[in-house]
Amino acid sequence: MMERALVVLSGGQDSTTCLYWALNRFGAGHVEAVTFDYGQRHRIELDCAARVAVRAGVAQTVLPINTFAALGGNALTDANIGVRNGVDAKTGLPNTFVPGRNLIFLTFAAALAHPRGIRHLVTGVAQTDYSGYPDCRQTTLQTLERALCLGMEYELTIHTPLMFQSKADTVRLARDLGALPALADTQTCYNGIQPPCGECPACVLRAKGFAEAGIPDPLVERFRAKPLTAPESSLF
Ligand code: ZN
Repeated sequence: MMERALVVLSGGQDSTTCLYWALNRFGAGHVEAVTFDYGQRHRIELDCAARVAVRAGVAQTVLPINTFAALGGNALTDANIGVRNGVDAKTGLPNTFVPGRNLIFLTFAAALAHPRGIRHLVTGVAQTDYSGYPDCRQTTLQTLERALCLGMEYELTIHTPLMFQSKADTVRLARDLGALPALADTQTCYNGIQPPCGECPACVLRAKGFAEAGIPDPLVERFRAKPLTAPESSLF
């Protein structure tokens, strides 16, 4: 039987690249996506994830996890916390950090994969060139993989194709996988706007990666191709 994979798809650049990585590795028809509606302020991420899944021709499951917003204290779910001032004074972590978010995502992904007989999870987390999230480290993911295998009595592999890639490497990988057109549908900006603000840490990191790879960002190009007064140039 052909192996199948479940990709955690957020609607961002990295998870979209991972979706194409999985399609390349496991083959069309053997890849599914799971997207978490965790109460993110920027609902546009969910629209992006849906578009990416449709374009790639993969089935997508959207799972609601409403608990993060109830926890409060982070800029991704709490409208009272800005993203520009960066680091939380108490924790030293970016204020976009939702404690344990990736652990929870992957645990739910595993719970979805198990009844479907899927033994491969794919996530776009990266240890290099990232914002300092401890739940993106390789050690964390390896330990979680072991815990999930034990806890579900089930052989499961967590793939992290971007773990040691720089942002420029990731852009080149997307190009090699034919994922660049799909990146026009992705959402990175912490301010949740399209065209992207170009100034927040996420936009700056994304732009740096494309610049270093010498490849134009299809998302930026999409808006450059249209007059700024067009209705599509605000939010979609
Ligand atoms: Zn931005």
